[in-house]
Formats: sequence, structure tokens, C-alpha cells
Amino acid sequence: MADHRKLGRDLELYHSDPLVGAGLPIWLPNGAAARHAIESYIREAERLAGYQHVYSPPMAKREMYRRSGHLAKFGDDMFPPLAEAGQPEAEALMLRPSLCPHHAMVFGARGRSYRELPLRVAELGGMYRAERSGVVGGLGRVRAISLNDAHIFCALDQVGDEVAAILSMIVEAHRVLGFAADSFRLSLRGQGPAYLGSPADWALAEDLLRQALVRAGIAFEEVPGEAAFYGPKIDIQVRDIAGREWSLSTIQVDFAQPERFDLSYVDRDGERARPVMVHRSVVGSLERLMAHLIEVHQGAFPAWYAPVQLAVAPIGEAQDEAARRLHDAAMRAGLRAELLLDGSLGNRIRLAAQRKVPYLAVLGAREAAAGEVSLRLRDGRELPARPVADTLALIGAVVTSRSPALEL
Ligand SMILES: [Zn+2]
Repeated sequence: MADHRKLGRDLELYHSDPLVGAGLPIWLPNGAAARHAIESYIREAERLAGYQHVYSPPMAKREMYRRSGHLAKFGDDMFPPLAEAGQPEAEALMLRPSLCPHHAMVFGARGRSYRELPLRVAELGGMYRAERSGVVGGLGRVRAISLNDAHIFCALDQVGDEVAAILSMIVEAHRVLGFAADSFRLSLRGQGPAYLGSPADWALAEDLLRQALVRAGIAFEEVPGEAAFYGPKIDIQVRDIAGREWSLSTIQVDFAQPERFDLSYVDRDGERARPVMVHRSVVGSLERLMAHLIEVHQGAFPAWYAPVQLAVAPIGEAQDEAARRLHDAAMRAGLRAELLLDGSLGNRIRLAAQRKVPYLAVLGAREAAAGEVSLRLRDGRELPARPVADTLALIGAVVTSRSPALEL
């Protein structure tokens, strides 16, 4: 079993360059193709679950993070302000440590009615953490983070159903991506004054999360002292191949941010009411998720997010033209295909195996003449020759259904 750094290098998924800086990985075309497929899936799942997507800038005035409480709690993890000479300090811009305050601005962009709740705001956005250069490395711990994030603004009596819906979305996303979480953790308040919000609000929020887990039949562990400073949370943990635990998915109830940004809506009785904010991430940061997926699958991703889904290798030059036609037809059919023309046939087949391409089409004279293809699967199986259109439809069906298996 190789770790994600070795596989990431061998499979050309991402690159770390000292000239860019530690903890600032560059997604190479292979890694970017897999990430794009995963992002599309997440966006679609969110859209179907009633989320609305936004874009917000990865920085804001220092004043916003003072108001949100991030500066007091996370100031040491934030990069220094980008101050202009002669500018008041509160005006200085800072790279954001989270997307939460920006999404609070989305809710607050105009007056809101109870009829709009739950308002589910989603974004796959950048955030930054001033990790020391000694602790960053690979994709597990980075300074520039791409977070699958969302915030649900709702009434208190809607929180239980929202958390239940998020839990099932998380479990389903993990299944589709080809893994299951190692453990679910209910992170509660510990000792100490560093928590925003009243004890009564905290007790209620902790209870709502606990009930949702129990209702979903999920086994979990309660861990005092691991809550966020603004509320309790459910952390969903995975283990890397070295046995270290990472939080991947999370659900957090927050009474503090709506208060700090003075968010409100008009309730059924025409009165001004304060929404609750539920923070959630289905798959966490794309960096940490990819590190996990690389290790879980040892680089042999399910076909739907494999960087190259179909490799095409002609046996000899006489089949180059047929191979090119097959490659082009696959691309037009929406697949990610690659033409292997260099070196001996043995080299081409080895290359496809090294890259862990799920499907390899080897084209000989007989197949080329008949307009057929026989597929070799990554797991070693060979399928009987089929017409080109049928073959592409077969792969297309596996990809569209996001099946973890290679053959339907
Ligand atoms: Zn948040």
C-alpha cells in the first residue's frame, strides 16, 4: 500500500513545487479531471437536495472576521492583513479562514421571510490557513484549501430534519465515491470560556445533533471539548494508511454567527426572528478528500472519476486510423479517452496499467475491419468484441450511473 504522496507523483495527480511554496499543491491535469468529475457530482447532489450555489471572494475586510469571532479564535492561523499604507486597520483585507461570514452576507442581502426557510447556500470555495511550513505536506494538510461548504439558515424546529437529510447525503456521497467513514463523532463543548452563545442554546443544539444520529441509526462517540467555538458538531472521521484519523465531513449547529451578524427573518406572526445557521460539508476539502480517495483506491478510481476512462491502443500502424476514430468517438460521447501510439504494444498496455486506466481497447486488424472493440478491464478481465457504439454505450452507462464496479 502506497501513501497518497507517492501515488500522487506516480499518477501525475498533483505537484508541489518549492518555488510556489509548501502546502500549496498544484492540481495537474489528471488530478484536476478527477476533481472536476467529483465537483460536478457534489453540485448535482446539492442541487437536488435544494441547495442554491453562490460564489464569494476568498478575502474580506479584517472587520468582518473581528465581527464573526474568527479573528479572536483563529487569528494565529490567518495570514497577516493585506494593509495599504495610511489605511485604517479595520479596512485591511484578509484571506478568509472560512466561508461562513460570506454566506451570512448572502442571507442578509435582503429581508427574509419564514417561507424561504430553510435557505441552503452552497459554494465550493477557497479558504486559507497559515500552517507552519514544517507541518504541511501532500494534500492532507495545505495552506490553500478548496472546501465543499454550505450553510443552512433555518428555524430551530427545522434543524433536526436538516441534520438528518445531511447525514444521509454524506453517507450516500461516501458510497458513490467508493468508501465508508471509519467513525462518527459528536463533538461537544468542553471546559473553558472560549465558546460563543448561551449554555441553554448549546444544550439544545447538542441534543438536536444527538437525536438526528440516533434516528439515522448511526453508531457514534461523544467527545467533550472538540466542538467549534460557535457550536457543537458531528465530525465524520476517516483513517489514512498510516492509521491517522482525519475529519472529512462535518455538520455544525451555530447560534452565534446569526447573532453576531444580526441576521433575522419575519416569522409566521410577522415578528422578527433569529435563524439558526447549520454549517455542513459533505466531503470536506477537495485536497483532503483526494488524499483519502488516492489511498483508499490506491489510485485505481471508479471509472466515473478516473482521469482517463478509456485508453486506446492499436496493435500496429495499420490500425492507427481506426484507433484515432475510436478515441474521437469516445471523446464526443463525453468520455475521457487517451490514444496510446508510442512504443511497442507491450509498452502501451503496461502504460495503461501503470496509469490505472479502467478500460483499455486494443485494436487489431480484425476488430478494426469489423468496426468492433474488445475491452480489457483494469482488473484483468477481457470482454468479448462488441461494435464500437455498444462499447462506448457500456462505458457511458457505468460512468453515468457512477457505479463503483467496472462492468454493469
Ligand atoms: Zn461555516
